[in-house]
Amino acid sequence: MNDLPHSRTTPDTASTLPVAQPAALLPLREPLRLSCVVPAYNEAGHLEDFLRALNHTVQGLALDWEIVLVNDGSKDATHDIALKMAQELPLRYVELSRNFGKEAAMSAGLDHARGNAVLLIDADFQHPLAMVAEMVQLWNSGYDMIYGVIADRAAESPLKRWGTNVFYYLMNKGNAVQIPANAGDFRLMDRKVVDALRQLPEHNRFMKGLYAWVGFKSVALPFVPEERKSGTSAFSTRKLATLAMQGLTSFTTLPLKVWSFIGACVSVVALVYGVYITIESIIFDNNVDGWPTLAAGLMLFSGVQLMSIGILGEYIGRIYEEVKRRPLYIVAHDEDCSPLTPRNPPSSSDAARDQTPR
Ligand code: UDP
Ligand code: MG
Repeated sequence: MNDLPHSRTTPDTASTLPVAQPAALLPLREPLRLSCVVPAYNEAGHLEDFLRALNHTVQGLALDWEIVLVNDGSKDATHDIALKMAQELPLRYVELSRNFGKEAAMSAGLDHARGNAVLLIDADFQHPLAMVAEMVQLWNSGYDMIYGVIADRAAESPLKRWGTNVFYYLMNKGNAVQIPANAGDFRLMDRKVVDALRQLPEHNRFMKGLYAWVGFKSVALPFVPEERKSGTSAFSTRKLATLAMQGLTSFTTLPLKVWSFIGACVSVVALVYGVYITIESIIFDNNVDGWPTLAAGLMLFSGVQLMSIGILGEYIGRIYEEVKRRPLYIVAHDEDCSPLTPRNPPSSSDAARDQTPR
């Protein structure tokens, strides 16, 4: 566990975070039946330890619980370890047919979770297990979504921190739905939040945006991520940049508006310059000057046009992905050793959904 108290007074987050209300004012919950959704991609090095530690943590907190482990096409021994652990722990093991990415793996986990609350947690010990008790306490007192916010990014490179800040600035600029900065996937969600997330039809599942979009009574808990237990992060700088682009283009049209604005400014400047050249050639009879300006202008505006076409292409690509309506993931293996039973008999729409994984 980190040294940071979960006081919600961390400097860079304190001003924006909602503050927990007294428990007495909020509705009481039914007994907690918790689904812990764990996406795993090449986590064999510490998976057994992690599942045991998670199980141990949850034991005292919930009446019933299950661990929904989603193997996102791992190439190491994750599959064998999962099957072994399914003999010992209340595990629902879902193996995807290939690596679909973390967002899809989490969606698979949410689709298979049966609890009245769901904990989303990484398999690499970076999300402190010691925080789960406080999350459950806040859920019991009436909060629907309790999410971890990274309070200290000092360990990251200045470039990554700068990139993160720019990303959140662009995301939230002029966007009706504000995405809390530095909030990750480590969160406890009530069943109604999970059902709301599952209702969203889009294929581009930028989860940080979707959590914010569904709303509900939420509270943030600052934390400092632990060291990864073993292995390396699956998110390289390139992958992070791709994810950021996906987030921006699926949640805001600001990049399109920026190019309209730049286009308008350039047009005004060009018009003024055109008038100036005309006057100059009439008064001073000067027709030869201005080649460097012309060449530089041509190159600049070609660049601007290519960039704006590129941005348009990003959006068209997103639309193309959406209209194909391919499933979001494909399940290759489903080992059900969960003690939790579905809370309600599945509706006809749920049945149809089970046959056609999104
Ligand atoms: N993960 C996944 N599919 C992927 C990449 C990652 O399921 O394609 C899982 C991974 O096993 C871990 C979590 O997502 O449980 C976070 O991944 P990672 O630790 O690599 O990311 P970081 O902590 O650096 O953001
Ligand atoms: Mg990690």
